[in-house]
Amino acid sequence: MPQDVRLVAVSKFHPVERLREAYDAGQRLFGENRVQELVAKAPQLPPDVEWHFIGHLQRNKVRQLLPHVTMIHSVHSVELLRLIDKEAARIGRTVDVLIELHVAQEMTKSGFAPDEALRDITPQLLDELSHVRVRGVMTMATFTSDMEQVAREFALAQNTFVQMRDQLQFPAFDQLSMGMSEDWPLAVKHGATMVRIGTDIFGPREY
Ligand SMILES: *Cc1c(COP(=O)(O)O)cnc(C)c1O
Repeated sequence: MPQDVRLVAVSKFHPVERLREAYDAGQRLFGENRVQELVAKAPQLPPDVEWHFIGHLQRNKVRQLLPHVTMIHSVHSVELLRLIDKEAARIGRTVDVLIELHVAQEMTKSGFAPDEALRDITPQLLDELSHVRVRGVMTMATFTSDMEQVAREFALAQNTFVQMRDQLQFPAFDQLSMGMSEDWPLAVKHGATMVRIGTDIFGPREY
């Protein structure tokens, strides 16, 4: 993996001992997709671990999550963005977030359609947020073995990211989070700055 691509070790469903092994091997950035699980694990690892939230975030869990995370990858609505800002202001800290783009075919996946993201995430909106820094976008490709389709979706995400960056003119808008165990090399080819990998690091999950 290129040196300038950050690896988010997706540790969901794996016990804390496995995370400690990864920590001892030098990993400092972990991703979880359930608030309960992240909040339970965070105090059990050293404080220099960086926790990223990558799952579907419900409004009523924002307050509980915020003290533990440095980045939320999965902001799927303007309403959620404003709520995160309000809660971050309340506890006096600033949190990095990514706008989740919906480029996959599954309707079960959430996020902004590319045209919605371009319409709704405006410079004015970013100005109004005092405790949230919008750092870029996150996306997930369709779960398929058709790698040409995955490549098309990553290209669309990359293209939308570049258009948003041009429109926002916000220097810290520089992160493109995409790529999982099955498709990360393709994501890196399409400009990913962060990949989120679980299975390839920790093995299969036991649900
Ligand atoms: C679980 C998960 C991953 C990691 O998936 P693997 O296939 O195990 O690498 C990446 N991103 C998100 C949003 C996830 O929920």
